[in-house]
Amino acid sequence: MALLVEAREASRHGLEQPLLSPSRPPISMVQLIAEGRIARSLAKCILRLRFPTAVYQALNIDTVTLDFAWPITFLVGLTTAMILSIACGIICLDSVQRNVAPSCVAFEFQSFPSQVVETIATWNNQTITNYANRYPDDSDVLYKYVLVSVADALGKTLAVVLVSVVDADTHHSKMFPYHVDVSHAKFPLTLKLFQENEVEIASMIHYNYFVQWSCLAWLALSLLCLWGYFGLSVIAPGFHALQQGCALMVVYSAVAALQNPPSVVPPLGEQDQDGYHGCKSISQGLRGYCWVLTFQSTITFCLPLAAELVRRPILPLIEFSKAFQGIKVGSKSNNNGDIVCSICLDSLSDDPMNVKDLDVLWTLPCSHTYHKDCILPWLAKPGESLGTCPLCRGDSANVA
Ligand SMILES: [Zn+2]
Ligand SMILES: [Zn+2]
Repeated sequence: MALLVEAREASRHGLEQPLLSPSRPPISMVQLIAEGRIARSLAKCILRLRFPTAVYQALNIDTVTLDFAWPITFLVGLTTAMILSIACGIICLDSVQRNVAPSCVAFEFQSFPSQVVETIATWNNQTITNYANRYPDDSDVLYKYVLVSVADALGKTLAVVLVSVVDADTHHSKMFPYHVDVSHAKFPLTLKLFQENEVEIASMIHYNYFVQWSCLAWLALSLLCLWGYFGLSVIAPGFHALQQGCALMVVYSAVAALQNPPSVVPPLGEQDQDGYHGCKSISQGLRGYCWVLTFQSTITFCLPLAAELVRRPILPLIEFSKAFQGIKVGSKSNNNGDIVCSICLDSLSDDPMNVKDLDVLWTLPCSHTYHKDCILPWLAKPGESLGTCPLCRGDSANVA
C-alpha cells in the first residue's frame, strides 16, 4: 500500500519509478545525521554499557535515548577531538625535541611601562637605579638580566644600559657600571625597562609533555566522574584551563622570541649566537604546537558544558540503577521446572499453553525469580520497596 502511494506520488511529480524499487528509499549521510540516528545509536551503545540490562529494560531506555543523543554525541565528539589533539601535541613535541640542541634557548622578556626623563639634570645614575628598583621581580621566573633601553625625543636609540645580571645559582644581583653620554641627545628621553630570561627549550618541552599527559589524565578522570564515580561533572575545569593557558603563554612567547629576537639582547658570545640561530629553525614546530594548545584550551572550555548536559539526565538514572544492581536477566526455558512466579503464580518455564507475553525473567540477588513485567512495578515503586525482593525483602542493591 505504501509502495502504491509512493508510486502515485512519483508519477504525479513526473518521476519514473525504478524497476526494482527498494522498499525504502536510500538514506543519505546528511539525513542520517540530521535525523539523529547516528547520535541515537551512539547514545544507546553507551547507555547499554553503562547500565545493567535490567535497568535498561526497566526504563525502556531505547525510547528515551533522544534526550541523551545530542549531548552524548557532543561529549563523545569533544572527547575524541581532545584525544586526537593530545596525540598531535605529543607528535609535535617529539619532532621538536629530536631537532633541538641541549643549549637551545629563547629569550623571554618582560617589559614595563616607560619612564620619561625631562631634562639632562634629571638624567643620572640614581634615576636609572631607582627606575630599575621600582618593579621588583615578583614572578616565579628568575629573570637573568635587567636592562634599560634609552631613546631620545627623535626616537633614536642611544644605548642599552645593562643594569644588573642576576646569577641563577646564587640569586645575587650584580650591578654593572654604565656610562651613557646623553649630551647630544634630544630631550625628553624615554627609558624602557626590560627583564630578560633565557628559556631552555629542552626543559620547556619536558614541561609540555607533562601538560599533555595531565590533559589526558584530566579527561579520563572527568569521564569517570560522569560514569558515576565521584558525582561531579568535570574535575577542576578552571585549574586545567589555567594550566593550559600558562603552557600556551610560555610556548608562544618562546616562539615569538625565536622568530623575532627582541631588540634588546644581552651580549652573546660567538658560540651562543650560533646556537641561537640554530634554534630559530625549530620555531615552526613550536608554532604548530601552539595551535594544538589553543585547540585544546577551546575544548577545555566546551567540555564542562557538554558534561553537564549529559550529567543532568543521567544522574537520576544512576540513582535508579542502584536499586537494580545484581539482577540477572534471563529468558523462559524448560530449566525452571515447576517454579512459579510468586506474584502472578504462573509458571516460569516455557509453557506453550501460556499466552501471556512475559518472556523475560529477572532473578534478584537473593535468587528469587519473577517475570520482568511482574517484578518491575514493585522494584521501581518509590519508597521502602524500591529495590527489595517482595518475598524475602532482600535489598537487591545491598545483597549484590
Ligand atoms: Zn509473574
Ligand atoms: Zn528474595
